[in-house]
Amino acid sequence: MRIIGHVDMDAFFAAIEVRDHPELRGKPIIVGGRPGEPRGVVSTASYEARRYGIRSAMPLATAFRLCPRGIFLPVDMPRYVAVSQQLFHLLSEFTPLIEPVSIDEAFLDLSDVAADFGEAERLAHAIKEAIKTRLQLTASMGVAPNKFLAKIASDLQKPDGLTVVRPQDVDNLLLQLPLERLWGLGVKSRERLQRAGIHSIADLRLLSRAQLRALLGSWGEEVYDLIRGIDERPVTSPGPAKSVGREFTFPEDLAGSDRIHQELARLARLVSSRLAETCQAGRTVILKARYTDFSTHTRSRTLPYSLWQAHELYRLACDLLQQLPQPTGPFRLLGLSLAGLVPYRQLPLLDEELPVTRTDQPQVAHRSDRLDDLVARINRQLKGAGEETPLISRGWPPRSYHRY
Ligand SMILES: [Mg+2]
Repeated sequence: MRIIGHVDMDAFFAAIEVRDHPELRGKPIIVGGRPGEPRGVVSTASYEARRYGIRSAMPLATAFRLCPRGIFLPVDMPRYVAVSQQLFHLLSEFTPLIEPVSIDEAFLDLSDVAADFGEAERLAHAIKEAIKTRLQLTASMGVAPNKFLAKIASDLQKPDGLTVVRPQDVDNLLLQLPLERLWGLGVKSRERLQRAGIHSIADLRLLSRAQLRALLGSWGEEVYDLIRGIDERPVTSPGPAKSVGREFTFPEDLAGSDRIHQELARLARLVSSRLAETCQAGRTVILKARYTDFSTHTRSRTLPYSLWQAHELYRLACDLLQQLPQPTGPFRLLGLSLAGLVPYRQLPLLDEELPVTRTDQPQVAHRSDRLDDLVARINRQLKGAGEETPLISRGWPPRSYHRY
């Protein structure tokens, strides 16, 4: 028997803002930006703001018209990502099988950790309680025999709700639901169904597979099963990549110090940008080399801190190159990878609290990429302000500037 849970945080971004600024409690909070921002949309509205009809993805200008006294806040993504990481860490204490759906939403496979739905219900209470005490936030949960039903269930009693759908309740529940509850049904498709006189899941159940296909395309065939409580899709945890790396096989054997270092720098840049995309950093740098006789050698070093930046990867790759039997090649293949991966959180810019007296390696690494971030941000702002060149680099301003 499968038991699937679905966790969905309540008004996540708005709830974090209220938690961190208690004076906002009870007020209509709209996270998304200032109402004057062109093309700005509501990212999350607090439940108080939803009472004015404000919804996610609504233009900020519309939200302002509906609730001029609302509190409009910018999106502080790094902070929300940090809370999301805490959430997923907390969830992983309850089951290893977690499938993230978004920053604040996940499926949990509880089949192996709960013997039956009664136990799963107690577990769900414990998860909600842990979120409340440790994150000071609320979540809504659904527990059901499959993902489709768990997703629907978590939404039925928001906020701070828990809905358990036992196998024997599945039909009853589905037959009561309006079309709006059908997970995956877009507004356009819903309107098409409504024009055809279909207003509930019970109405949909009267249609054949072929009729559903005609109305909803290929997804219609899936819907035929879903609305009968049949959904075999597994909860698949992405599982962190064990390492991130790239390698090049050279069309002509690679020799000469300059060319070898050029290729190492290229590898370092590619690995670094892959790490940045996936928000990961790692501690073990591995250099792989294959010689023209096809003998393959690897050299690695594990550091006391995690890194992801291209210039550090390059520096370590150069060190490892010297440890190879023939550092000057010729090489048939070179590869660079980083293992021992951990999620990398971008540190807030201009954070006054960062200790500057400590000079141990992790701080050095973090301060260095903070500086990279800062330089990138200043450059963006200069560009935005119409500045052509020169944009600043890490070498600027000269040290003497700091002194007055
Ligand atoms: Mg949510």
